[in-house]
Formats: sequence, C-alpha cells, structure tokens
Amino acid sequence: MSGAEDLEQVDYDVLVVGAGGAGLRAVVAAQEAGARVGLVCKSLLGKAHTVMAEGGVAAAMGHVAPSDSWQTHFRDTMVGGKMLNNPRMAQLHAQEAPARVRELEQWGAVFDRTEDGRILQRSFGGHSHPRLAHVGDRTGLEMIRTLQDRVVAGGVDVHMECCVTHLVTGPAGVTGAVGYRRQTGRPIAFGAKAIVLATGGVGKAYEITSNSWEYSGDGQALAYEAGADLIDMEFVQFHPTGMVWPPGVRGLLVTEAVRGEGGILRNAAGERFMWKYLPEDRRNEYAATDEEAARWGRGSPHGGVFLDISYLPPDHVRRKLPSMYEQFKELADVDITKGPMEVGPTTHYVMGGIRVDADSGATTVPGLFAAGEVAGGMHGANRLGGNSLSDLLVFGARTGTGAAAHAASLAGQPYMNPVQVQAAVRDLDGPLERTSGEDPYAIQRDLQATMQSLVGIFRVEADLDEAIRRLAALRTRWSTVRVDGGRVYNPGWNLVFELRNLLVVSEAIARSARQREESRGAHSRIDFPATDDATWGGRNSVIARRADGTMGVSTTALPAMDDELRGLVGVAH
Ligand SMILES: Cc1cc2nc3c(=O)[nH]c(=O)nc-3n(C[C@H](O)[C@H](O)[C@H](O)COP(=O)(O)OP(=O)(O)OC[C@H]3O[C@@H](n4cnc5c(N)ncnc54)[C@H](O)[C@@H]3O)c2cc1C
Repeated sequence: MSGAEDLEQVDYDVLVVGAGGAGLRAVVAAQEAGARVGLVCKSLLGKAHTVMAEGGVAAAMGHVAPSDSWQTHFRDTMVGGKMLNNPRMAQLHAQEAPARVRELEQWGAVFDRTEDGRILQRSFGGHSHPRLAHVGDRTGLEMIRTLQDRVVAGGVDVHMECCVTHLVTGPAGVTGAVGYRRQTGRPIAFGAKAIVLATGGVGKAYEITSNSWEYSGDGQALAYEAGADLIDMEFVQFHPTGMVWPPGVRGLLVTEAVRGEGGILRNAAGERFMWKYLPEDRRNEYAATDEEAARWGRGSPHGGVFLDISYLPPDHVRRKLPSMYEQFKELADVDITKGPMEVGPTTHYVMGGIRVDADSGATTVPGLFAAGEVAGGMHGANRLGGNSLSDLLVFGARTGTGAAAHAASLAGQPYMNPVQVQAAVRDLDGPLERTSGEDPYAIQRDLQATMQSLVGIFRVEADLDEAIRRLAALRTRWSTVRVDGGRVYNPGWNLVFELRNLLVVSEAIARSARQREESRGAHSRIDFPATDDATWGGRNSVIARRADGTMGVSTTALPAMDDELRGLVGVAH
C-alpha cells in the first residue's frame, strides 16, 4: 500500500516537534496558555539529547558566589560568544535563567545542595562565578524527568517514534507538517496553527561527534525550506576531548570535568604540549595534512593525545568521575586510575541555527517558531558550557508562550493545502518504490568525510569551495536514493530524510564559513587568522537563505545594544 491511501491526520493549536528540554518546556508554556498541544519526537519520550547533559545548567543565582548577577552572566556569555550573540537573547537568558531553574525545583527536580540547603552551583569554563546548578553528573536526566512529568500531567498528545519530514505552508505562513510513524511507516499529517521546532543540532554532518543519531539538522533544514533564515551556521563547536578508540565509540564525550579535576594532556613523548599552542602561531604549529601529522609522531596510537588523571589517588578519581571511569572501563577496557585516556576533538554543538525573535521565538515565517539548539543567535561565535540547558528553559518557555499567542490570534484551523501534503507523502514513498539508485549509507559516508576533512576545525577557502562542489554532487546522488525493505522500522529509509536535511545544513555551514573571512570563536580560517573587527564591524552575522531554489548567503548587522548592555561589555556600538 502506498502512503497516500493510509494517511492519518490530527489537528492542534500548537505542534511541538522535539521532546528535549526546549520542546518540553515549550509544551508546558503552551499548555498554560490554554492551547491544544501535540508533541512529536523521533525516538521514545525521554531519550532526547538533553538527557546526556552532565555538567549542569548555568543561572546566576548567587548561592555559592553572592556577587554573581545577571549582569556578570550576560557579560561572560557575550565575551564567550565573541560579541556575536544576539544581545537581547543573552540578556533575557541571563535575567530569566534563575527563575526557570527554581521553577524546575518546585516541580520536583532534586538538585545537589549547599550546606544551608540551597541549590549548589559549580564552576565551569568561561563562567566568572560558580554558576552551574547540577545533579551530580546527570543534570540533563533530572531536567528531562521533571519536565516530562509536568508535560504528561498537563495533558498532551505525544507522538513517539514519529519523524516529521515536511512542513506545509500557505500564503499566511505555516499550516501544518507531514511525517511518518517509525513503527509502522504510516504517514501522518499534522494541522497546526503554530509549530515549534525544537529538534536540536547537526552533529551527524561529521564523522566524529558526541551527538546521537537524532542530530541530523532536521529542524534547521525544514525551516530553511519553508523560507526561514539560518544564522551563524559557520560556528560549530568542536569539543577538545572525545574518545578516539575503539572505532565504535569514537567521538563519545569525555567530560570537561576530567580536566577540571586535574587531568593533564600529554603527547606520545610524554610532553605537556598545550602551553606551546598560542593562537597567533596556529598556522605553523599544526600539520597541513594527515600524512604530515603521522610523520610528526607526537600523537597517541589512534591519532589523538593522552589525557591523564591516573596520578591522582584511584579512590578520588572513581568518586569524582564515576561515569568516565565506567565509560572507559566498559567501552575501551582502559582503567583511568591506572593509565591515560586517548582523546581527540569531537563535533559537539552548533551555535548557529534558525534566526528567531528573542522575545517570542518567532522565525521569519509566520506561525513557525524555534527554540533550543536548533535556534541561532543566543551563543554567538561560541557557547559556554552550561548555557545550553538554561537556553532550553528560558527560550523553550518564551517560545511556547509565543506560539500559543499566535495560535490564539487565528480564527480557525488554517487550510492545509492537500497538494503539498500529497507531494510530501509521495516523497516518502519514492525511495521505497525505486528499483535502482544510490545506497543512502554510501552518501552518508561521503558526506561525513567531506565535512570532517574540508569543513572541520581549521578552514581554508580552497577546501570550502571543494566542499561546496562535493555537496552539490552528493545532492544529485541523493535524488536517486533507494532503500531495501519495507516501511516498518527501516533505518535506511529514515536516513534518506536525515541525509536530505544534513545536505542542507552542511551546505549552510560550508557557505557561511566561506563567507566569514576572519577567525572568531569556533570558526578558524587558516587563510584569515585574525579577528577582523575592521571589515566585519565586529558584530555581524552571516545569514543563509533560500532564494529561487538555491542557497544565498549574506551578512547583516546584529541588533544594537542599549546603553546599559554596552556598558556591561565595554563596547562602543
Ligand atoms: C554528551 C553531551 C553533554 C552535554 N552536556 C551539557 C551540559 O552539561 N550543559 C549544557 O548546558 N549543555 C550540555 N550539552 C548540550 C545540550 O545537552 C544540548 O544542546 C541540548 O540538550 C539540546 O536540547 P534541545 O531540546 O534543543 O534538543 P534535544 O534534547 O536533542 O531534543 C531534540 C528532540 O527533537 C526530536 N527530533 C529531532 N528531529 C525530529 C524530527 N524530524 N521529527 C520529530 N522529532 C524530531 C528528537 O527526537 C528529540 O526529542 C551536552 C551535549 C552532549 C551531547
């Protein structure tokens, strides 16, 4: 049976796509505003990426350092983001994060405590004060558990293991979405007055990533195809310590807490090499090719470096880093109390994303909203650890409220153009019906290799041009992709639509990186090593936008700061 004959349809005021921290917090806010809410997620409820967050949620509550304030949190965030953050987002985030964290506590989250019974806060890179509220090294799990309880108690239709693949639009904006149920392959159309995209990041564009299979840039690509702007896509955060061995776990995160506890980075000669690497000298200090790096012979056996905490008492290591101890013992057969870990960089987080209004989460497409890692602007050129979980809470709530208000402003359910719905369903059928064509796994392999080798940590114009050329060729190959098997739990079929999205976000990353001819934050151009305030005015964003079926990139000035904010960060404009 083809999908068209079996189409299911449900209607909501607000459809939230994604059940991580941002999506769940948006549902709570939309429910409180009285909206009929539907929630969709690709895997089981509770399995979103947010659950993996360990370090904590940043909020200037001042429980450990009474001198902390929203002003210092704002300043730290802007400095970390190299002044490219949307200042209104950074301001709202710093001002509202404490209330959002306290609210979580009132809803049942059990945070670690200070001796006088308040929420404990720990130090983290880039934060000038101990600011991260945490629950041991499983903060994200507690956050998801608490929000899920709240959402389910509030009454919401949850569509688990359901993948949204298309947005439906009309002259007045977004009118619904189409996707399919992974258990059955059955297509489903969601009519919606407002849609919140909360689908997370893009890590699967790269070979080596700390991200799970779900991070395929779905929300970014859906929004782009619907006409929304993608902003700052050149800023991809590569975490310095991921596992490098064995191959099956390559990229898995080795938490920053290892270095926080005193872990030392060494090369194969046992040297503490980090002090030598000053940014100004970057060009001469890194190998130009893999072969040259191999000849240097200073890395670990599997191409990383060593991170050593084994000089500390074993009991201390096991007590302070229980998850890391287990992770290396179970997955790599390495006892980190006895010897070093092998680590290397891993793609971790994307600062760029869908351009949104700071106050409401509205995109430039009416009725379409975005929050969480899928949205851009909040973190500028680099994100501070802990600022993502607070971002999810602050802007998840604001976006849920914004979407519900938009829905309430419409008289009735918007008309969902059946031609668009049927075209989407035919798209779903295509790869299953073709008798010959490309294997999606081959395209995925080539896509990830392209991004890893040409659009990685250090970038140069010729590589970026080559990447853009190869991505175009991959898109052509994708258009004839075919999959074996049926519609039921078919991961190859699922991959087809994720690849379509990854091709969009990869092109946006490569084109934006090509456009930004300077080095700033997480974006390092070997051919433009300086941070070029003169050309870039210091505070400009790169925008990727669809025009006549192709991707155009342009540069736009960031929103201006008022006098108070300018004073906090000490800039003149
Ligand atoms: C290992 C690790 C540790 C981290 N530690 C921290 C930390 O300590 N502090 C911190 O602040 N940040 C941390 N981060 C970053 C932070 O966890 C993420 O940025 C954040 O959780 C993203 O939340 P989200 O709600 O935007 O997306 P997610 O939590 O990933 O949720 C995305 C949701 O969207 C759904 N989805 C995606 N595509 C579709 C589709 N097409 N159709 C339907 N549903 C879809 C998914 O199923 C999922 O439910 C860490 C990240 C990692 C990987």
